[in-house]
Amino acid sequence: MSFHEQLALSLARHADRVLLADDNQELTGGALAERVERWASGLRHLGLRRGDRIAVQADKSIDLVILYLAVLRMGAVYLPLNNNYQPSEIEYFLTDAQAALFVCTPGERDTYRDMDSLRRMRIETLDAGGQGSLPDLLGAIVASLPPEPVGPDDLASIVYTSGTTGRSKGAMITHRNLVSNASALIETWGITQEDVLLHALPLFHIHGLFIALNTLLLAGGRVTLLPAFDAKTVVERLPFATLFMGVPTYYTRLLAQPGLDEAARTLRLFVCGSAPLSVQTFEEFERRTGHRILERYGMSECGIICSNPLHGERMPGAVGRPLPGIEVRTADHAPVGVLEVRGPNICAGYWRQPEKTREEFREDGFFITGDVATIDEQGVVRIVGREKDLIISGGLNIYPKEIEDLIDDFPEVNESAVVGLGHPDFGEAVTAVVSLREKGSVSAEELIGRLRARLASFKLPKAVFFVDDLPRNAMGKVQKAVLRHEYRDHFG
Ligand code: ATP
Ligand code: MG
Repeated sequence: MSFHEQLALSLARHADRVLLADDNQELTGGALAERVERWASGLRHLGLRRGDRIAVQADKSIDLVILYLAVLRMGAVYLPLNNNYQPSEIEYFLTDAQAALFVCTPGERDTYRDMDSLRRMRIETLDAGGQGSLPDLLGAIVASLPPEPVGPDDLASIVYTSGTTGRSKGAMITHRNLVSNASALIETWGITQEDVLLHALPLFHIHGLFIALNTLLLAGGRVTLLPAFDAKTVVERLPFATLFMGVPTYYTRLLAQPGLDEAARTLRLFVCGSAPLSVQTFEEFERRTGHRILERYGMSECGIICSNPLHGERMPGAVGRPLPGIEVRTADHAPVGVLEVRGPNICAGYWRQPEKTREEFREDGFFITGDVATIDEQGVVRIVGREKDLIISGGLNIYPKEIEDLIDDFPEVNESAVVGLGHPDFGEAVTAVVSLREKGSVSAEELIGRLRARLASFKLPKAVFFVDDLPRNAMGKVQKAVLRHEYRDHFG
């Protein structure tokens, strides 16, 4: 079944219950179905067809959700774009994807209209209040035009990866991928129509869009949309929710918020992912709120792959077992190796990059994640780091996470990132970039001295840099490429 068909069933089943709400409106399943149908029909009237790419960079709102669902409904391909991307970056995605329609915020329209490369592209607008040229156009269309049928293997979305390790790649996500992942998550996290998700994530990434939204919509739960993450607002709203999903930085910010402990009490489940959750944050959150955050692991190309259990031991530093229907292994079954994944969740490949697609898939259908992991006898997966962040110094392999974990344990340290910098003798030199809780509270020599007792000498940082904050992208991922670039000349 296509995602759209599954959704239609759920919306019909929950026709009289509120499924989607923000501060201004509440939509029942019935009302949502009706608006999605109308916009899907309207998009067809504008000349858009099944398979066309519809790219969107707009503020988070209920209308944005309706646009997303309408695109899936009519068999077009939804292409969400990070709100932080600048026009020149957006231009790349639009031309790469050969989008038929681009929806942006009203203030940006002229910038894009003036771009030569986009001259023939249709550009419409949608703002946070649901106003703009797109709703105007769609609202004026009255005659309905039924969409073409959509099947499970049709493309639903192209999601550009976060670009943490290089240029973003467009993962081609099918309807089957979306349905299988949402169903597996409903089962794994026990999501029901009684759930209320406080939705603070952006809608341009799979976390907020597929993991959070799709799952709740198919389960018939309620989604309360916040325009963005704001720790104070989240704490105020937690008592009215049963579920919260976030990236690790949300959790560290929540910990700095007075009132969290009380507010978190009645919540059913806190879920975390998109980047590694530190053991420190996990433990402090448990101490303060009594909740053991459920960490899961996923990526644009696969949706969610592994999750800690709903019932049973949630382990800090581990991402749990694969979801039902998904197989994992390390390359060549090595004790530590690149994680490979197979299942109905894996995307159909990279958009317009057949070479890259071939490189990232094994012949037996396993997808090569690029994340280095261990799998213990119980099948529990631990992510050790990314293959591209592996440091090779003097011919020896060093996993940054081992060193980062030790540094993060020092009481003065807020967080750290360990990278390899070009070095004339060693090839790469281990380098630590550290953010301290209090500036100047510990020196580079002192840190290295303390590490000496716990690390083989080839793993010891050869330099330590102090920064106020580590560079992170919108999903809270540390941008090691930025750090490597910034300090690239240090060792000459
Ligand atoms: P790019 O592929 O363009 O370099 P990216 O991999 O960061 O960017 P995403 O698909 O958004 O783009 O992120 C997926 C990655 O996020 C995973 O491959 C993994 O490295 C990381 N990740 C997600 N969840 C976790 C987790 N719980 N623990 C550790 N890493 C995680
Ligand atoms: Mg990736």
